[in-house]
Amino acid sequence: EAHKETLGFQTEVKQLLHLMIHSMYSNKEIFLRELISNASDASDKLRFEAIAKPELLEDQPNIGIRISSDETANTLTIEDNGIGMSREEVIENLGTIAKSGTAAFMQQLTGDQKKDASLIGQFGVGFYSAFIVADKVEVFTRRAGLDNAEGVRWESAGEGEFTIENVAKAERGTRIVLHLKAAESEFADGWRLRNVVKKYSDHISLPIELPKQHMGDDKDKPAELEWETVNRASALWTRARTEVKDEEYQEFYKHVAHDFENPLSWSHNKVEGKLEYTSLLYVPGRAPFDLYQREAPRGLKLYVQRVFIMDDAEQFLPLYLRFIKGVVDSNDLSLNVSREILQKDPAIDSMKSALTKRVLDMLEKLAKKEPEQYATFWKNFGSVLKEGPAEDFANREKIASLLRFASTQQNDDSEVVGLDAYIERMQEGQDKIYYLTGERYNQVKNSPHLEIFRKKGIEVLLLTDRIDEWLMSHLSDYQGKTFVDIARGDLDLGKLEADEDKQAQEEAAKAKADLVQRIKAVLNDSVEDVKVSHRLTDSPAVLVINEDGMGLQMRKILEATGQ
Ligand code: ADP
Ligand code: MG
Repeated sequence: EAHKETLGFQTEVKQLLHLMIHSMYSNKEIFLRELISNASDASDKLRFEAIAKPELLEDQPNIGIRISSDETANTLTIEDNGIGMSREEVIENLGTIAKSGTAAFMQQLTGDQKKDASLIGQFGVGFYSAFIVADKVEVFTRRAGLDNAEGVRWESAGEGEFTIENVAKAERGTRIVLHLKAAESEFADGWRLRNVVKKYSDHISLPIELPKQHMGDDKDKPAELEWETVNRASALWTRARTEVKDEEYQEFYKHVAHDFENPLSWSHNKVEGKLEYTSLLYVPGRAPFDLYQREAPRGLKLYVQRVFIMDDAEQFLPLYLRFIKGVVDSNDLSLNVSREILQKDPAIDSMKSALTKRVLDMLEKLAKKEPEQYATFWKNFGSVLKEGPAEDFANREKIASLLRFASTQQNDDSEVVGLDAYIERMQEGQDKIYYLTGERYNQVKNSPHLEIFRKKGIEVLLLTDRIDEWLMSHLSDYQGKTFVDIARGDLDLGKLEADEDKQAQEEAAKAKADLVQRIKAVLNDSVEDVKVSHRLTDSPAVLVINEDGMGLQMRKILEATGQ
């Protein structure tokens, strides 16, 4: 029996649907990208499951996507013969949003349509984008391997609920029928449809077929529908770099990253030799909403000899590069490779260090050639990159060259100063990189510690990110120049100080010995020591941390966690 039931969408789906319909209007054709992307994912999953269970291919070993329209009925149909869905999977996938952190994400929505539209794009709208152009959507699907009678029909008007029932379906896979809104009939037009499909499908590795279009009048139309493949249908990363257009790289990115916007940069490489693999790595244009969530998916899409194996293979890049998206296609791994095997395979380690280097090189190039794009990168991912020196000791010099800081050279708190630029501006005789950490820019900017540096015109980096002190505890030097925290210990300005200055300081220290004794007596146990200082020009006194003492930021963090 059909066992028809009506179910309500999860609250978050209702919110998403409402917002999408009202805010995605200027970009409505993206629904086709999303549906094609899903059909392609479903085919990848089938190919993967068929490695162990070839019978899943049934009598249809050729996998592809067909898209057609009916101008009279004003419908658009997208059909794949991929993995399909069982009844439970339909309810789960097309009734809820399974992503972790969804509820928290939804709370960020402001009600301001423009802002929310970009947030939604960042979240990924997927299947539900069908409702941008359709006022009714039907899904017919059968999971590969299940009986024909276990097909499922899902239907919804995209308001509060959907119906689901069992129907017979002979072919495995999914057919989605969009009943277009009257105003969106353009998508039922054969030529218009063809243009949009082409735009979103050239990077898809399986054939996408459309009905052959016939010029002239309808009498010439053959009785049988003729199909025609409109895309290249070869995996984009297998093509030569020179043959792939920027737009194709960009569309492919949107497919693998589930992003709406273009990437900042990419790096496409074929490696031959002992290990053979191809990688295509992207730097996204913005941070995902769950960048700092531990359980957020990360990693690359793994293929073995063009066969999709898994999403989110996290073994190929270190944690501090978790924002990188892309694919890696290996010629050496077994088709049966699992996450456990990846973890133990020494070949993966050498791929990981090579891919890490590729990413760092790509960022270096971006910083050199497109500083504005790099600034965008830094705003989005700088704090994540700062985890690098601690996690990846071997590359810390390279990572350090990519860091950007606020500095006394600048009039505001923007993090734009790189260490190379700092070194170029160093004073005659300066051999150290000076920095000051604190909680807020306005506080460090006015710190008395800076007085002597201002007077001498020496640049000081101003570090106020929560992670900065921890970062600096893993960076001792860069290009042979030691980092010095100017709030610590005795400040030795080395050659920056004239000899007569030093003499004057020693004399002053002797002259003030009595005063120091008296202050010590008064302050008693509150401080460890009192010294005559030459680092102040205006302020009478300053608190200093011992050379090996814990920094203020660290102290605060530990206090906050109750230690
Ligand atoms: P995403 O693709 O990011 O997972 P979507 O909203 O696009 O999110 O799709 C939700 C889920 O619905 C998919 O993860 C998949 O499990 C399922 N799905 C969507 N379209 C298809 C399809 N054509 N065939 C099989 N499963 C599908
Ligand atoms: Mg999708």
